Amino acid sequence: MAKTIDDKLITRESNPSATIRNNLIPLKIGIFIWRVLRKRIATKEELDRRGIDLDTLLCPICNDVVESVDHAIYSCKSAKEIWSGILKWWNLPLPLSSTLEEMIKCSCIATKNSRKKKVWQAIVWVTCYLIWKSRNLKVFKKDGWATSKIISEIQVKSFEWIKNRSRNSSMSWHHWLTSPTSSCALGASFDPG
Ligand SMILES: [Zn+2]
Repeated sequence: MAKTIDDKLITRESNPSATIRNNLIPLKIGIFIWRVLRKRIATKEELDRRGIDLDTLLCPICNDVVESVDHAIYSCKSAKEIWSGILKWWNLPLPLSSTLEEMIKCSCIATKNSRKKKVWQAIVWVTCYLIWKSRNLKVFKKDGWATSKIISEIQVKSFEWIKNRSRNSSMSWHHWLTSPTSSCALGASFDPG
């Protein structure tokens, strides 16, 4: 059902080039982020706006707040725990951004190293994608919500994707886990702030 509704939301804008790109990760993630920025994912608030009748608009994970796009992927307590783990892994302060849009656009990261910036952007996008996917698995397949498992999945997937798409990459898994900022980039040190 989620897939059908997602499809409905996306087909209204049937421009095949409607995406944003980061060539370190699969195109499907750029498409997803493009939809997130335009509020074209099937959260309860967006379904309600499109005239779909629902019993409740509350977030199915915390049952406390209307499920908006920002809430589902960024400000829900369940999502914040994931973001907090990812920021800790990257040794970045919390909170980094006040809104999902700001986070996606990475306006909060100041670094002269464009490779690092691009890798960080990839991590942010993959995190959004896997938080949304995990929410759907919990809601529709009744899977559990395990913060540490989701964080691990983000680390594994981003490593595989980025390593496979990087030329002459000598990235090691151990280095990626323990010091992602130095493992992803050559040269200049990471400078958050
Ligand atoms: Zn919530």
